[in-house]
Parts: sequence; structure tokens; C-alpha cells
Amino acid sequence: MLKRSVAAAVALTTLTFTLPAQAAPPPAAGAIGIGDRVWPELGNGGYDVLDQRLDLRFGKGLTAYTATTTLAARATQNLSAFDLDLLGPKVTAVKVNGVPAAWKTTPQGELVITPVKPVRRHLRFTVRVDVRNNLPEASESDPFPAGLQRYHGWVQTTSQPSGARRILAVSDHPAQKAPATFSVTAPSTVNSIANGKLVSVRASGASTTRVFRESRKIAPELMQFGLGPFTVLHATGPHGLPLRYAVPAAQVKDIEPQLASFDRSIRFLEKRLGRFPGAEAGSYVSALGGELETQGLTLMAADVMTKEGFENNGTEAVVLHEVAHEWFGNSVSPKDWSDLWLNEGQAVYYERVFAAGTWGHDFAESLRETYESQGNNLLVNGPIAKPDPKTWTGHEADVRPYSSGAYQGGALALFALHETVGARTFEAIERAWVRKYANASAGTEDFIALASRVAGRDLGPLLRSWLYGTTLPAMPGHPDWKVGPKS
Ligand SMILES: [Zn+2]
Repeated sequence: MLKRSVAAAVALTTLTFTLPAQAAPPPAAGAIGIGDRVWPELGNGGYDVLDQRLDLRFGKGLTAYTATTTLAARATQNLSAFDLDLLGPKVTAVKVNGVPAAWKTTPQGELVITPVKPVRRHLRFTVRVDVRNNLPEASESDPFPAGLQRYHGWVQTTSQPSGARRILAVSDHPAQKAPATFSVTAPSTVNSIANGKLVSVRASGASTTRVFRESRKIAPELMQFGLGPFTVLHATGPHGLPLRYAVPAAQVKDIEPQLASFDRSIRFLEKRLGRFPGAEAGSYVSALGGELETQGLTLMAADVMTKEGFENNGTEAVVLHEVAHEWFGNSVSPKDWSDLWLNEGQAVYYERVFAAGTWGHDFAESLRETYESQGNNLLVNGPIAKPDPKTWTGHEADVRPYSSGAYQGGALALFALHETVGARTFEAIERAWVRKYANASAGTEDFIALASRVAGRDLGPLLRSWLYGTTLPAMPGHPDWKVGPKS
């Protein structure tokens, strides 16, 4: 610097006087969401979540609970106020850096927190939110309210895509995922389980507290809190991978033989994608169920895991689908909910590869059948990677952007890629995808860029025609396939 010319020194001096950006911007409120085009209110602006601790304490009969969220976060702007996502539970206390903070809730599901002192950009801070909530029995007619469900003495969690905020305060977007510690306190008459490794069990009076640690990042939508009369069985998968299964104590004999399907699915997928991305795998087999890829602890219904249910429901392929999500969705999470095809299209694709290998189905033929029979009807909610949130109405708005476009349409787009680049390059793209974005979040344009780089050619026109088009393109290499009409 000292050796620079006078002119340069003058220029630097001038710069100092003319750049108002050097003054710290005044603190402002963080945005209500992270800018998701399907779910604008999910996640929160102004900070990154670094770590999360979620404590749930259930009373007798599991009819109510209190919960505490403790987030470690780092401010990405000077924050006068910031939000968490919360919809339903009653707030009882909020603290920022240990100091009580002002708060209010909105009908849109925002918990707006105003700390006594603004939080400065780049600084790490903690926020603690205490809530309480009732947990009514799920009814036979509508057994799946989003979030926690209680049913005949069991509790399970199905939060996808926006139900975690109905349980406790979180930053409820997969792009804001972070490692988590789960603590579940419940009457000792029931067992409890959550994602991650069991790190401690402590009995106190009539209650038992179990603490679990998931050291991978985990999105709130993928959390599993399970309580009920179950037994936990342990096994070992490939390369020593710990497997654990929470199984109804009364049905262990009926269900245990089918649990090996998890081990088989992991081995099948590892051959095509590389190593399983988690530190443990397994399942929470619950009395209610509804298959869901809750991280490292897939939710399964007990009645599809008995010998008869397993065979009658094609459960082997369902398990494969859910385990595929450990790579697609859990490890590589969507940046935006518009990118859901990267979870579901991928899981359907491998489910069909598996079905073809296992039951002698013709893989291409099964996709032709979808292409011809469903065709453009797959796009009723908009393009595969650009769904229109307004097309989900009423109660269905809660499950946007889940659609056949993301599932079957996504699988067809992947098949179009496969037919264009060939099997070897397709596998290289898939392996590179799950390796590069492991334990992170990525979107459709990231996939297009990575696929083009691995293939050594611009795959943008092909993939964009599939992913953003309002009608399905012709299937590469299959001029005889005729796309079904839009009805
Ligand atoms: Zn799925």
C-alpha cells in the first residue's frame, strides 16, 4: 500500500469518502420466509440455523405436551427482530441469548421475536421458545393431521412438507436444515424414539427421558418423534451400518422377518449411488403409519409390514422408495419446494428400476405406460419443476407441491436424461449429484449444471424442456411413444 502512487492513494481516499456502504446498515426485521416460491412463509430470513435442540415432554395418556426449541443461529444481517415458524401451539416463553424477548404470533404461522438488543450481523446467538399443546386422538376418518398424531396409545410424526411448525417452533424449510438433538420425556409405560443415535436414557419418577443426536443436518419436515408400546430391535447392515427398528411389541414375530427389506434396499442402492449417506438406518413401524422417509428412521405402518400385508401391498418396493430418499431428499435436500421432483422423481425412478430387477418388469415399458396413459395429465399442477401453488386448493394446499408431476413426471424426466446420455453417464451424474450435495441443499438448476458438466455437453435445453415445459416433450430414443392427451 505504501508503495502505491499518489494517484492510487487519492483514489483510495476518495473511495473511503464516497462509499456509504461502510457504515453498518441499521438493524431491520428478518424476512418472514426464505423466499420459497411454493411456500413463501416457510423458513426464515436474516439468520442461518447452526444447531437445534428439540425437547418434547408428554403427560399421562399422551394427550398433551410441552416443548422447548433451542436454536443456535448466526445472523446474516443486523436483526431488530426475526421469526420462527409456529402454527397452533401456545407460546409460554421466549428468550434470546438467555434474556426474555418480546414476541407475537400471526395467523400465517410466524412467531415474531423482538430481542431487547438487536442481534448484530455475523454474530452467533441462541433463541429458546417454550410452547404447550394438546394432542387430540386422530380420528379414523381423518387420521393424518400434519405434525404429531396420537392414535390408540401411539404417537407418530408426519410433517411433510409444513407440519413441524404445528408441533413446536422451528425454521421449517429444508434449505435451513441443521444437526439436531431430540429429547423425549414420556410416562415410562411407553417407549420413545427419534431420529439419530440414542445417547442417554434417564428415568425420573414415573417418566423416562431419552435423548437422541442426529449429527447430520436434518430438516424439520423429516423429524420423527415416536411413542408407543414398541420394542427396538437392532441389526447390522452393509459395512457395519447400525440398523434399528421400533416394532409393535405385540407383533414382533409377525413383522421381524420383513425388516430385512431395509438392508436389501440399502445394498441395492449403494451399488448404484455409492455409500449410504447416514450414520444409521431403520424404521419406526407404527400402529397408524403412512410411509414416510423420516431421516434414518423411516415411518412404516405395522399392517403393511406383517407377512401378509407386505406381500399384498408391494411393501418391498415402498421400502426401496423410502430408503432412496435417504440420498434424494434427506441428504440432498431441495433448495425450494419447486425442486421436489429431485426427491420424488428420483425415488420413483429407483423404485421402478428395483421392481424391474426383482419382479421381471420391463423398466422402459413401465415408463412408456405412464407416459402414454397419463401424459400431460401429469402436469395439472404446472411444470414438473415449476408447480403452480394456486392449483392446490382447500385442505390440499397443505400438501403442495406433492403431485404426480413431481413423482411420475420427475421419473420420466430422469429417464429422458438416461436415454440421452446412456446408462454409464447417467450413473456418473447420479453419483456425482449425491456426493457433491450430500448433507446440503440443491435445486433444479444445480442438477442441470452438474449433469452438463459430468456429461461434457449442455443438457440445459433437454432438461429444461422436460422440467419447465407445459406439455411433455417427445421421449428421446423412443419416437414410437405417444404422449397421452391432457383431459
Ligand atoms: Zn417419496
